[in-house]
Amino acid sequence: MGKLVELERSVSEGRRGALEFPVRQGQKPGGVENFQTTLRNRIGCAGIGLHSGEQVRFTIYPAEADSGIIFRRMDLRGAKGLAGENICVQARYDTVSNTQLGSTLANEAGVSVATVEHLMSAFSGCGIDNARVDLDGPELPVLDGSAVPFVVLLECAGVSRLTARRRYIRILDTVSVSEDGKRVSLSPHDGFVLDFEIDFPASIIGRQAYVFQSGPGQYKTEIAPSRTFGFLHEAEHLKSLGLARGGSLQNAIVLDGENVLNEGGLRFPDEFVRHKILDAMGDLYLAGAPIIGRFDAVRAGHALNNKLLRTLFNTPNAWEYVEWPVGAERQTGAAPQRNLRRAARG
Ligand SMILES: [Zn+2]
Repeated sequence: MGKLVELERSVSEGRRGALEFPVRQGQKPGGVENFQTTLRNRIGCAGIGLHSGEQVRFTIYPAEADSGIIFRRMDLRGAKGLAGENICVQARYDTVSNTQLGSTLANEAGVSVATVEHLMSAFSGCGIDNARVDLDGPELPVLDGSAVPFVVLLECAGVSRLTARRRYIRILDTVSVSEDGKRVSLSPHDGFVLDFEIDFPASIIGRQAYVFQSGPGQYKTEIAPSRTFGFLHEAEHLKSLGLARGGSLQNAIVLDGENVLNEGGLRFPDEFVRHKILDAMGDLYLAGAPIIGRFDAVRAGHALNNKLLRTLFNTPNAWEYVEWPVGAERQTGAAPQRNLRRAARG
């Protein structure tokens, strides 16, 4: 909560500036939008939870401006010792409670929602700021292991533009976290770019790098279809521990040595690294607002992505809230100029 107060204070103290991107009049960097959005209609779906192996039903509802993404565990409604609001879990970097096999969120009452990253990624890629997600189990269904089913649901529900202005988190200074040969960073950039590199001993994956420049429509074709992946021997080990019970060829790329076991093979030759970008977009959307900056990652995962956000929000000078400027709100100042030069250096 302290961090949230800190975020709010930084806004009220006037650190909210205007974007000053090196782009032509009227042209916006990919995905930049003035107003907050939500869904036009509610929409739902059901599927198997990756870890529980059990059927989970969820419904995504429109939500008002500034509410963000909220999960609600309907199966715990009326449960002993739980007050009504305690079944809600806000999707935010500081509610992340576990990053072992995906990103799990939990509230102060210990109510948790697991495997949120693919839906969060779809919210990010489709530009949805506010939604409430009711579910009747401990984790979101894995569906086909990619974000496409979620994107299709969001598209079917439709997007509704709200009257409240959207806030962005603009990166002002580079923050980075590294650990055991893994590295992630966020640095100033005029748009949202993710640059990911992975390096696996298995040559079927090997070294793959991908740069994703976020923009309207690109997420759906370049990133969303990529599926989660794992090795057969790992899956067997996880199942022996009672995990990944729902994992199958229907919801993950399964590798056995150098072979892809899925009929039909890969959706992209570099599907693995694209999926890492899919996951990172979901994890970074837990910042609570879209990021304007560049994300670089080498061999990282959910744990490091979350550490990066925690480091960012513990470094007040490294970021600020901004809105896309219109008319008189447009202003220039020392910080934007500084960032213009950085952006120009690339
Ligand atoms: Zn994933």
